[in-house]
Amino acid sequence: MRWPKLRELGEAVTSVVRGPYTARFPAEPTPLPARIRGRPAYHADGCIGCGACAQVCPAGAIELRNEGCDTATPMRRLVLHYDICVFCGECERCCATGEGITLSNEYELSGRSRAEMVETVEKELVVCELCGAPVATRDHLLWIHRRLGSLAYANATVYLAAQEALGLRDTAERDDRRIDRTDIQRILCPACRRTVTLLDEWGPLG
Ligand code: SF4
Ligand code: SF4
Repeated sequence: MRWPKLRELGEAVTSVVRGPYTARFPAEPTPLPARIRGRPAYHADGCIGCGACAQVCPAGAIELRNEGCDTATPMRRLVLHYDICVFCGECERCCATGEGITLSNEYELSGRSRAEMVETVEKELVVCELCGAPVATRDHLLWIHRRLGSLAYANATVYLAAQEALGLRDTAERDDRRIDRTDIQRILCPACRRTVTLLDEWGPLG
């Protein structure tokens, strides 16, 4: 029993000389480890609104909302609830651009209500010109177009979105006629693209 007591005494004397081992939080900020994983933060310029982060989030902390699809200004909102987040870093690791979301070193997270503990990014949404279903965000389609280069011309939805961004496309409203092969040259969701392609290949069914 004698030696442990002497060791404790030695440690006490060392502490008096060196100062306490514990941090003086909250009087002083706690020194942070270099790779701390704090609150995730969106970067609107790097994010294309693809929604991959929402799909991989194991805690279900990222909500993807497609809003106003039947209005002139459809929007996609990604709402990150950091009161649900477990700071695993999967959203950052799987981000399509690698620049859309990163974990900050902010760790002192408290609020008066859950409603205020959110981080949101908004993107213009492109909808199907036949059925109005959400297709992708404008930034996502333009990002695909840039990455594919000339190969993008194999996909009408992608190159038409790029032409629209350059002001090279007449976006006049479609009249109420039946679907026909000219609809190939439209921005379409996968289901309508399939319908129009089959119609073009096989003619009207029935
Ligand atoms: S850090 Fe993990 S839990 Fe938090 S939003 Fe990203 S993927 Fe979800
Ligand atoms: S670009 Fe990254 S941060 Fe933005 S929606 Fe896609 S995966 Fe999430």
